[in-house]
Amino acid sequence: MTKNKIDNLKIGEFEISWLNGGNFALDGGAMFGVVPKVLWEKKYPCDPNNYVPLAARPMLLRTPKNNILIETGIGNKLTDKQKKIFRVNAEWDLVNDLNSLGLAPEDIDYVVLTHYDFDHAGGVVSKDNEGHLGLTFNNALHLLQKSEWEDVLRPNIRSVNTFWPENNEILRDSSNLQLIDGDIKVCEGVELIVTGGHNRGHQIIRFHSEGEVAYHLGDLLPTHAHYNPLWIMAYDNFPLEAIEQKELFEGRARKEDAWLLFYHDPFYAACKFDQKGSVLQSIGTGVL
Ligand SMILES: [Zn+2]
Repeated sequence: MTKNKIDNLKIGEFEISWLNGGNFALDGGAMFGVVPKVLWEKKYPCDPNNYVPLAARPMLLRTPKNNILIETGIGNKLTDKQKKIFRVNAEWDLVNDLNSLGLAPEDIDYVVLTHYDFDHAGGVVSKDNEGHLGLTFNNALHLLQKSEWEDVLRPNIRSVNTFWPENNEILRDSSNLQLIDGDIKVCEGVELIVTGGHNRGHQIIRFHSEGEVAYHLGDLLPTHAHYNPLWIMAYDNFPLEAIEQKELFEGRARKEDAWLLFYHDPFYAACKFDQKGSVLQSIGTGVL
């Protein structure tokens, strides 16, 4: 997949830019759970082997005072075997993307992680040119729910496949981790809200400035095609909670005329929807 430049999105005084955190592919059945393929393939394309294209697309949020990075992409530590398994077809290019916006990794004040699966937290620790591992965003506080971190440190038989030690050990031993217990305000206009659903400690982000609002629902709404609250991923650990939280926050977003931002959708970076789930406004190519 080619690297698409996506237009920035303004939310009042805030500016959102999209960064390349790697592109990959997963089985369509796993991405759409119990939804029959005859339905989901009308909304989302798949290849002959049933794989669907996915982005890992971190967002840079610039407020008048802070640079906030939301999610970190798949990182640059994947082995060739892992790249094959996840069908990685575009590499993590986050640092170059930041540079092209006139920023260095040191300029990031906060890294917000909705949860710690490898495709969201893989860029927290990266390899330098000599192959040494270190924190990518040295000056940033990394904001994560305490319950998520507990699960990261003690993964179960299922989550061990996504909570990789190489993504958490250096952060664990640093002073850059700030664990949160519940909802918080990061700074004026940026709130973190615990939802659970996908993971026990999954959190979402709400931004608002000058009357405009946006939500980043993390893996509760991975792509535009998941808008129906019942269309959830087989990866969700707490499916009924995921459905309930999606319904709640999609409803709030409609009322607030808010943008919904996607991390995994290579076609759309952000959309506004009507009640039936039709796209009213969008950022991104929109070409499926
Ligand atoms: Zn994900």
